[in-house]
Amino acid sequence: MSRINDFEESQENERELIAVLEALINAEKLQGAALGIAKKVIADKGEEKLTSKQKKVYSNVIEPMFSMMCSNADCDQQIAFSDMPEAIANHAMGDSVECSNCQYYRHQMAKDD
Ligand SMILES: [Zn+2]
Repeated sequence: MSRINDFEESQENERELIAVLEALINAEKLQGAALGIAKKVIADKGEEKLTSKQKKVYSNVIEPMFSMMCSNADCDQQIAFSDMPEAIANHAMGDSVECSNCQYYRHQMAKDD
């Protein structure tokens, strides 16, 4: 049973990773070698097949983009990985990027109006 769950979880992680990489590409955040490597990870459905040189670029250039902070100055939350594709797209359009907590509170506030 747990093996199936592990498998499903890794499939889910893989889908999230690919969605984040696609969002970075669409937002034109990646250039040159990093762009090629992101496309390879998407095609291979994972980073396992990268050469050691490519892995270095992946961890130095691409992985740092996986952490985004909430735009609210008084909030120090990071954007959840599963929310990253939307956050990257919003950010690319010049919109602010909010963590799920801030989004939740803003929706609560809007309800009170
Ligand atoms: Zn926040």
